[in-house]
Amino acid sequence: MLQTDPKEILNTVFGYQSFRGKQEEIISHVVQGGDALVLMPTGGGKSLCYQIPALVRPGVAVVVSPLIALMQDQVQNLKQLGVRAEFLNSSLNESQASQVKQALRSNKLDLIYVAPERLLLDSFLDLISEIPVSLFAIDEAHCVSQWGHDFRAEYLKLSILHERFPEIPRIALTATADTPTRNEIIRQLKLESAMEFVSSFDRPNINYQVTLKKEAKKQLLEFLNAEHRENSGIIYCLSRNKVEQTAEWLKAEGFDALPYHAGLSSKERERNQSRFINDEKVIIVATIAFGMGIDKPDVRFVAHLDLPKSIEAYYQETGRAGRDGLPAVAWMSYGFSDAVMLRQMIEGSESDETRKRVEHQKLTALLGYAETTSCRRKVLLNYFGEQRTENCGNCDTCLNPIESWDGTIAAQQALSAVFRTGQRFGAAYLSDVLIGVESERILQFRHNQVSTFGVGKELTKQQWSSVFRQLVAAGFLAVDIDGHGGLRLTKESGAVLKGESKISFRVDPVSNRKDKKKQKTSPQTITLSTEAKSIFDKLRARRMELAKAQNVPPYIIFHDKTLLEIAEVRPQDLQSFANISGVGQSKLERYGEAFLEVLRGAYP
Ligand code: ADP
Ligand code: ZN
Repeated sequence: MLQTDPKEILNTVFGYQSFRGKQEEIISHVVQGGDALVLMPTGGGKSLCYQIPALVRPGVAVVVSPLIALMQDQVQNLKQLGVRAEFLNSSLNESQASQVKQALRSNKLDLIYVAPERLLLDSFLDLISEIPVSLFAIDEAHCVSQWGHDFRAEYLKLSILHERFPEIPRIALTATADTPTRNEIIRQLKLESAMEFVSSFDRPNINYQVTLKKEAKKQLLEFLNAEHRENSGIIYCLSRNKVEQTAEWLKAEGFDALPYHAGLSSKERERNQSRFINDEKVIIVATIAFGMGIDKPDVRFVAHLDLPKSIEAYYQETGRAGRDGLPAVAWMSYGFSDAVMLRQMIEGSESDETRKRVEHQKLTALLGYAETTSCRRKVLLNYFGEQRTENCGNCDTCLNPIESWDGTIAAQQALSAVFRTGQRFGAAYLSDVLIGVESERILQFRHNQVSTFGVGKELTKQQWSSVFRQLVAAGFLAVDIDGHGGLRLTKESGAVLKGESKISFRVDPVSNRKDKKKQKTSPQTITLSTEAKSIFDKLRARRMELAKAQNVPPYIIFHDKTLLEIAEVRPQDLQSFANISGVGQSKLERYGEAFLEVLRGAYP
């Protein structure tokens, strides 16, 4: 049964009512044989952009994908929808692989997912030149970029597809936003004549929160207890050691937390990753080694206990939250020591001066994001070249506006204290000098005699430490790499000292318990009536059983979004069950009765 109407396929196969964003345009372009470059954020719905044309056009769609986990996830998903899909990669043994090839030769597949090195084998290229191919899809197309962290050398050779199969449409897809990467994809894949479809990179369902680090663990625990006792999430730390400790500590606090880092055996890594994917309440504590290839849609939060190195990294890591479109949180704790440590790491690295400068700039942008008093989403999107003027209403600074104060004079005083004391003391000492504390050390160095001694009495020590933190964040002070945290002036300091740049500081929110109660964090939370919640829990339990029986993750059966709709609508027969978003023909037949039983109270 060959269906030819994309909308019809969207309804009957995928169970969705309408296209999202540019999906319809993209699909129609590819169906007509055009090449396309698709830039869409994570969770935007890229897969449908090639899966629907694959079903409309005759022949098999060849999908290039860089990771086994991604291929498995996609193929499992398609099979559940009744679509004929397979993959070819190193996880198959010889006889499995030859079965797949046999199916290909006899035109029994709608989609075939292949690793790039397989695709490039002469034998494979010969095979597909003998059968009808509907299109080539190149997923995670940014893997061609030698500057990115996901570079895959084989991706560079994919231009051969254009040379050998000029008539077959190609669609390249990525969630990487920046222009240099986009241009590199076009050049490397010879997509000069492809139509570009660029979507907004906003992730409206993600709530951004940055808290000032006081007792990071306690703050994390408060965050988890408040909203995420029952959720899947990822917690990023910088070092293996911290990953291990944090996971242990969370376990002791009653969470199902597992570590993930490059120092674990591959068996242990696999086991922990698979627990995370197949369970609904597992927290992974990880270094950045974890993430690529994880398509889990119900990650409800991503927390950073340490700062990432750039906004790009931050956006990619936080982007793993909320792929299913339901509310999710990106939480980060940040403090002076983070700024100092990251500055020192860059300074102390082996990189050449140009590279260090770029890294400092990237870090300054990230620290600026952490310190901002304006809407966080605006800062993020502006960084990626998307101009926003409206506040989002779904980040901490929108929900609890942060005051700022004119710090031009305080900044001058602080910088001058650094200069007068010889550019080698840390923030605590300098604050004492400014306030006029006659400590033993200050007397010993005779810094009670410098002109800045005691000029800053109107601020508290805590306020001065906030000033120094913000000066380091903005790059007006540099940190010594010897590890003692000594501060020195930078090229940028001069303008401040001369009064040429105006400086504005944020007022750090005071956090006492009373205030906490008043603070709004996320306006969007999943709210269900008690009755619906109880049904939702039963539906989830049923889904877990069905998933376990087939050895697939629960989200492959239905997303939480679909279960929530079922719990709210409570359809009583198959016909009304079919109207739920995410219920296509195949899933209706497979699971309709099983879930109706739950609603009828006949189960368990
Ligand atoms: P991406 O690959 O861009 O990260 P996916 O293709 O995995 O995103 O899609 C994200 C989620 O949104 C998936 O669960 C998908 O089924 C769902 N989705 C995609 N398009 C639609 C649509 N038109 N209506 C409803 N849900 C959709
Ligand atoms: Zn906002």
